[in-house]
Amino acid sequence: MKTILLVFGTRPEAVKMCPLVRELKSREQVDTVVCVTGQHDELLAPVLRAFSVTPDYDLGVMRPEQSLFDVTTLVLQRLRPVLEKVRPDVLLVHGDTTTTFAAALAGYYERVPVGHVEAGLRTYDAQRPFPEEFDRRAVSIVSRYHFAPTRQAAQNLLREGVDPARVFVTGNTVVDALRTTVREDFRHPVLDWAAGSRLVLITAHRRENLGGPMREMFRVIRQAVDRRPDVKAVYPVHMNPAVRAAAEEALGGHERIRLIEPLDVVDFHNIMRRSYLVLTDSGGVQEEASSLGVPTLVMRDVTERPEGIAAGTLRLAGTREQTVRRELDRLLDDPAAYGAMARAEDPYGDGQACRRIADVLCGPHESGEEGRSCGEHHRDP
Ligand code: UDP
Repeated sequence: MKTILLVFGTRPEAVKMCPLVRELKSREQVDTVVCVTGQHDELLAPVLRAFSVTPDYDLGVMRPEQSLFDVTTLVLQRLRPVLEKVRPDVLLVHGDTTTTFAAALAGYYERVPVGHVEAGLRTYDAQRPFPEEFDRRAVSIVSRYHFAPTRQAAQNLLREGVDPARVFVTGNTVVDALRTTVREDFRHPVLDWAAGSRLVLITAHRRENLGGPMREMFRVIRQAVDRRPDVKAVYPVHMNPAVRAAAEEALGGHERIRLIEPLDVVDFHNIMRRSYLVLTDSGGVQEEASSLGVPTLVMRDVTERPEGIAAGTLRLAGTREQTVRRELDRLLDDPAAYGAMARAEDPYGDGQACRRIADVLCGPHESGEEGRSCGEHHRDP
């Protein structure tokens, strides 16, 4: 029997890996082992609960005020004995966090084949997003299996010289996750509070936006809400103390803006689905909003998720006052512009990404069509 070890540590990784854990656990040919690093501690637990995933190992690397040095070295040190004990046939990591990078490096040192879920995203600017662009590129160097969410991501890898036989276009597992979390009969106090208004959902936490850009973005948002009595905004504020202070200072004390604690993933997905628009600098939220068809302004200068822009659901709004204001005003005041974004198609797949990944790792499940690499004839999801 094959042993597959999944390692993840942050909230966004957990959202996209838990559906894969469940898919792999449903396959009799594999022994599925889950190790969390604890890079995010309190943010991770609600996601694990939502998907009923219980980790076999917890590396507990979370420290107050921890640096990238701390996370990288602790993951390397603490994963080593787990790898020696579990001796996995494949180590699966996801995306582009410090956990992803350090775990893939540990697998490489132990000569365990690494599988990279959500491979091939690129901005080709190592500073933006920081350190994620480095993380995902470094993981590509040591990976045996590259599970690209889109054809465009696969093309990036092929252009970089990755062997086509190792690249698989699967769709994004976030679409699979939404199938578990989104509910028709969903109720929440935030939605009751926002009833009859246009609800703007905000997430912002990027390291490179801290300081000036974040203050400018928040100022514009406050003014936009101020000027439109039918608009309300809700912001589940990230745990980072610097983000909390900036949010409180710029957005606190407004009767139509609510600063709340991070939401449980089920709540977040369902509130997003009912929102009028999303303002975000997050990575995963861009895909979720695209998938749910909710118009979204991305408060970044570059994105590694061009598919959502091409599909029309996302627009880059930059991080400075002038561009964010222009884009936000347009979306709130021009129904035609809003309508065009709200009708866009989902570029991230059909919710079968986990099945495709499991097929590659376990051998085909039901049909012989799945599990083909870019080196073979391939049907896109
Ligand atoms: N998320 C959540 N609760 C919140 C805000 C976000 O569960 O209050 C989820 C969201 O659905 C997405 C992930 O967290 O799946 C995004 O995480 P984050 O923005 O921290 O990271 P990024 O995607 O930018 O790496």
